[in-house]
Amino acid sequence: MNDAYILIGSNIEREKNYPDAVKRLRGLGQLVAVSPVYETAAVGGDANTPQFYNGAVWLATDLSPHALRNALRQVEREMGRVRTADKFAPRVIDLDLVLFGEVTIDDGELKLPDPQIFERAFAAHALAHLNPDYVIPPDGPTLAELACRLRGTPGEMIEMPEVSEQIQQWVKTSVKEQRVMSEEKALSVPGFRDNEWGSPIPDAAPGHLLPAMRVAEINETETAHAAIEDAVRTILLNVGEDPTREGLLKTPERVAKAYDELLAGYNVDPVALINGAFFDTDYHDMVLIKDIEFFSLCEHHMLPFFGKAHVAYIPEGKVLGLSKIPRIVEMFARRLQLQENMTREIADFLQDLLHPRGIAVIITGHHMCSMMRGVKKPDAKMVTQVMYGAFQERAVREQLNDCLLQDA
Ligand code: ZN
Repeated sequence: MNDAYILIGSNIEREKNYPDAVKRLRGLGQLVAVSPVYETAAVGGDANTPQFYNGAVWLATDLSPHALRNALRQVEREMGRVRTADKFAPRVIDLDLVLFGEVTIDDGELKLPDPQIFERAFAAHALAHLNPDYVIPPDGPTLAELACRLRGTPGEMIEMPEVSEQIQQWVKTSVKEQRVMSEEKALSVPGFRDNEWGSPIPDAAPGHLLPAMRVAEINETETAHAAIEDAVRTILLNVGEDPTREGLLKTPERVAKAYDELLAGYNVDPVALINGAFFDTDYHDMVLIKDIEFFSLCEHHMLPFFGKAHVAYIPEGKVLGLSKIPRIVEMFARRLQLQENMTREIADFLQDLLHPRGIAVIITGHHMCSMMRGVKKPDAKMVTQVMYGAFQERAVREQLNDCLLQDA
């Protein structure tokens, strides 16, 4: 798969033609992301020339640059575009391949990167929205830097939120269908593996496979990141730091990304996580999974607490795949938590899932908020436990304690 970036423009029946073009592009590859739609004045046109809708699409494609360029011309023709000598004539649709992976070409037929991206603010903005860190070949700048440079270039561009939203919605729906298909065949497709959450994710760099994950979530993630970054800058300023000094320049971005991982539990779908991994069993004795390491953030201070969870249950006809229990712990740990609540949530979740004869969750945690601040007791551990069903019987609890004390 190659990453192609395509500019779209229309100023004849643009409300119909712009979205139509985006839909047709799906026939040429997989949509990775679509930019907002901008209204721009026609270059070189007079005051009566209708304004354009402009934007960009990131497409992962198996086509070569020339084949893709020809395919785009074909789509233009199908949509009724007639190329004339008049460069500034209104057009039904304009589909320009402007960037293609790390490729540079200038063979009289095709020029990549397309020079127009260095001149037109909307082009740079739309592309930067798709992939800000993309380094324009051969050696930069990045799209974000380019967009920054072209800020304030003459030529008005106005974002059209309603049209953008409409296209995003369509992409989301169409991509969901694509995603279901991808998940069904995911295990047999090279490049996919079962990730720690139990759902298929692409092995390759983001954007190269399973665009569904990116397109559907790209806008929400970007909006959330931007908001977190602003908040981190505010914190930096208010603790007396200079967010513009070199060491801190990228800190807001790094923090936003770190939260993706530290708080990933909010985005885990429990059904996908369990993925039907139940097994019938005649085994009626205790199952104990101990020393499950976890890292969490306390909801009072957003400081880390970490330690080990031990989960035991006595099956009633059903057991759960071995790897699932640590994943369940992870799902609840990767949120803002109180250790007490986390213990109970894990127990309740397993209770609802397995209806076992008994369930016990024991967690020991070290809390940075009491180690680094407040009472400053670095050695203190917190132990919490929840026992349901058979584990409320003394004999069973003693058996559990024996198991916990045994060293594997
Ligand atoms: Zn705390």
